[in-house]
Amino acid sequence: MEEKYQDFDDREAIAVIGGGPAGILAAIEASKSDNYSVYLIERNDELGKKLKITGGGRCNITNFIQIDEFYSNVVGNDKFLIPSFSKFSNVDLMNFLSKLGIGTEIEEKTNKVYLKDTPQKLIDTLTGIMLKNKVNILFSHTCNQVEINEEGFLLKLESSKGIKDLTVKKLICATGGYSYPKTGSDGLFMKVLEDIGIKHTKILPALTSIKIDDPYITRVPGISLDTRIWFKKNRVKYDEIGPIVVTHTGISGPNAMDASSFLNKIDDATVRIDLIPTVPRETIEKDINDNKKKSLIDIFSKYCPQRLVANILDELENDNTGVSKSNVGEISRKTIDIAIKKFKERELNVVGLGSIENSIVTSGGIGLKRIDPKTMESKDVKGLYFCGELLDIDCLTGGFNLQVAFSTGFLAGVNAGN
Ligand SMILES: Cc1cc2nc3c(=O)[nH]c(=O)nc-3n(C[C@H](O)[C@H](O)[C@H](O)COP(=O)(O)OP(=O)(O)OC[C@H]3O[C@@H](n4cnc5c(N)ncnc54)[C@H](O)[C@@H]3O)c2cc1C
Repeated sequence: MEEKYQDFDDREAIAVIGGGPAGILAAIEASKSDNYSVYLIERNDELGKKLKITGGGRCNITNFIQIDEFYSNVVGNDKFLIPSFSKFSNVDLMNFLSKLGIGTEIEEKTNKVYLKDTPQKLIDTLTGIMLKNKVNILFSHTCNQVEINEEGFLLKLESSKGIKDLTVKKLICATGGYSYPKTGSDGLFMKVLEDIGIKHTKILPALTSIKIDDPYITRVPGISLDTRIWFKKNRVKYDEIGPIVVTHTGISGPNAMDASSFLNKIDDATVRIDLIPTVPRETIEKDINDNKKKSLIDIFSKYCPQRLVANILDELENDNTGVSKSNVGEISRKTIDIAIKKFKERELNVVGLGSIENSIVTSGGIGLKRIDPKTMESKDVKGLYFCGELLDIDCLTGGFNLQVAFSTGFLAGVNAGN
């Protein structure tokens, strides 16, 4: 027979499922209410497992740009976020952290805000607040079934000791997406929600690598450089300059990952890359005209990593043997034009994207049309709230995804506690 959890005080309870940034903030805010006791249910034996690996361990927690500009870093569905950002913005998050003694630093060029302390210190500090507010944290408990009944929600919680029932008045879902499943967010809870009639949109990898069939680029893995990537198909368009890293199978790094969050929605787009985005074509042409005794390798290596230049020019060698090392004065105008195009308007043969497991975030999630953006409550099931990456919202690189988790978690917690 399944056991029941004993109520740990006389009040009705709110359960938060998922101890990532969204769930932690929701639990903190809900626990400020006098009306409810709060459970935080986490399948791992620790909180914030994904948070700990964010920003390469430095945790790019938000972005210090004007909130209006913030929305342009949300891939669709940005209007849904207006109420949560207005209640808990990037500045609110930074003030909240500062009051807790958690230092942040802003990267000048990108406005990315990083933690000065370790993410573990942040998790420990937030855990301290929850314990002070008497949040009952159930570690190593997986919620794998939910039933809606007259009292609210009956949760089936599985742990090493078996399955126990927990009845709560309100339920906040903060179980994240599908990416990096080893951190605990593997999409299992989406299926649990499906069973109670809550629908999700199409699930796709986002902020992931782009696989290309272009040996002249992939032969030099590890090289990083600024690039412009652009494409347009139907209503989906992308045109940005930013860093990429070459991998054995394609390209990764912020600009490639951001592009993937748009590419995942279209097939057969012509994707172009400029490997020398900050130097206009005319400048390169003038350089070639002014330096007729130099080789193409010499000229292009001023603007692009030499190993990559050598490879790209290798491609040209297939038709014009010796061309990359000859004096540019001896090379035909047509060949020079082709060479410039190979750097500045290269067509990428995209053959796929990284898997959802290896993507930084998930595109798609619980459909927003049936959620009230002012409260994060379901329009269909009273007392049911959603927050964080579980929602059908994904953002570009730069700290935006964590801000969404904190802002929506804040709003869900405040409103569930009311
Ligand atoms: C490698 C990497 C680096 C990243 N770096 C950044 C960055 O620098 N800046 C940024 O803004 N974003 C970054 N992100 C994205 C960001 O980490 C996520 O968007 C964010 O963690 C989402 O928060 P969340 O609370 O919604 O979900 P999660 O952090 O995924 O937390 C969900 C929690 O729910 C638990 N859970 C799931 N199902 C159940 C269940 N059935 N029962 C009980 N518990 C359950 C999971 O164990 C997990 O702890 C990064 C992501 C990755 C993978």
